[in-house]
Amino acid sequence: MQWTEEALQELEKAPGFIRSMAKKAVEKAVKKDGRQEVTRDDVIAGRENYISFAEKKSSDKNITRIAVVRCDTVSEVCPGIACFKAFNNRRQQFKDYGDNVEMIGFFTCGGCSGRRVSRLVDKLLKYDLDVVHLSSCMTLDDDYLPCPHIDEIRKTIESKGVKVVAGTHH
Ligand code: SF4
Repeated sequence: MQWTEEALQELEKAPGFIRSMAKKAVEKAVKKDGRQEVTRDDVIAGRENYISFAEKKSSDKNITRIAVVRCDTVSEVCPGIACFKAFNNRRQQFKDYGDNVEMIGFFTCGGCSGRRVSRLVDKLLKYDLDVVHLSSCMTLDDDYLPCPHIDEIRKTIESKGVKVVAGTHH
């Protein structure tokens, strides 16, 4: 697939973390159209269709934006069902939120000792992150031991001005 210079320049405007996804989506649309060259207009149309909703910050200041960080080790065996069920039904550690809340991130710590946390919280701050929940798997002494780095992870998040809540579905 060929890209015009203008199309490539337009693609550069997309945030780095979604750029390759956006590129694939645009190429797929152009191919479906029976063409072999991506133009600037294709990129603009693709951006509007596939990613603009994710780039835009909501202007509603009444919405609380939350994220969950969970244990990288436990993520090998858990897809996060209980965390999402608790959030969707506003149970346990999510019970006080009501309707004006958005889950804008669900990520793993990146492995001991939580190397990914700072970087991903910084990204979420660009989308007005308010609260990070430390997943229940980090706090419980269950099939896996509780996270030995939880205090450092909490401090890292709080130092960025973000509230931390211990737990999700317990
Ligand atoms: S830092 Fe904690 S949460 Fe992350 S992998 Fe290690 S034990 Fe799990």
